[in-house]
Amino acid sequence: MLPIGVLCLQGDFREHLATLSSLGVASKVVKKPEHLVGISGLIIPGGESTVIDKLSKIYELREPIRNLIREGLPVFGTCAGLIMLANNLIDGTSTQETFGGLDITVQRNAFGSQVDSFESELEFAGESVKAAFIRAPIVVSVGPETQVLSKLADDRVVAVRQGNLLGISFHPEVTGETKVHEYFVRMCKTANFTATN
Ligand code: GLN
Repeated sequence: MLPIGVLCLQGDFREHLATLSSLGVASKVVKKPEHLVGISGLIIPGGESTVIDKLSKIYELREPIRNLIREGLPVFGTCAGLIMLANNLIDGTSTQETFGGLDITVQRNAFGSQVDSFESELEFAGESVKAAFIRAPIVVSVGPETQVLSKLADDRVVAVRQGNLLGISFHPEVTGETKVHEYFVRMCKTANFTATN
C-alpha cells in the first residue's frame, strides 16, 4: 500500500506517525506541497486549528489539500484536524478558515479549557475505543450525507464520516488506541487513491 501522509505543521503528528508504524503501515511526513505526491491518504493531527490554518497557508498547502479533498483523497482529522475538515465553525477566530469538506458544524473548545480534558471509553463504528478529549470540539450538527460513527452518553456527536472524510473530536493516538487508525487504513485501501499534485 502507498504511504499515508501525516500533516506535520503543528500538533501531535509524531503520535500519528508512531501509530501508523505500530500497524506496519508506511507513512510520509507532509510539510510542503511536493510531499503530497504519492500518498494514499492524509491524517490531520490535533493541535491548534488556528495555527494549522495559518501554517497551511504559509507553506502553500491549503489549496493542494482542498483540491485533493474534492478529488477523493481519504483524509482523517482528529480534534483540531476535525475542525480543519468542517464546513462551518462556531467559536472560530475572526480570520480562521478551514479546509472544509465535511458538511458539519463544529464548536471549538466545547468542553471548556485544558483542565476539563478527560478520557473515556467510546463505541466507534461498533467497536470499543479508548479516547482522550483535550480541549476538544463537538459536532453540533450534521448534513444529510454525513454518517455519525460515535456519540457520547449524552448523545453529543464525536465522530463522523462523509465519503472519503473521517473526523473525530478525540485523540486515540495518545491512549495507544489503534482501532480508529485501522478503520482509516481500510478506507484508504478501499479508495485506492494516489495523490498526484
Ligand atoms: N482547541 C483546539 C483548536 O481549537 C483543538 C484541541 C486539540 O486538537 N486537542 O484547535
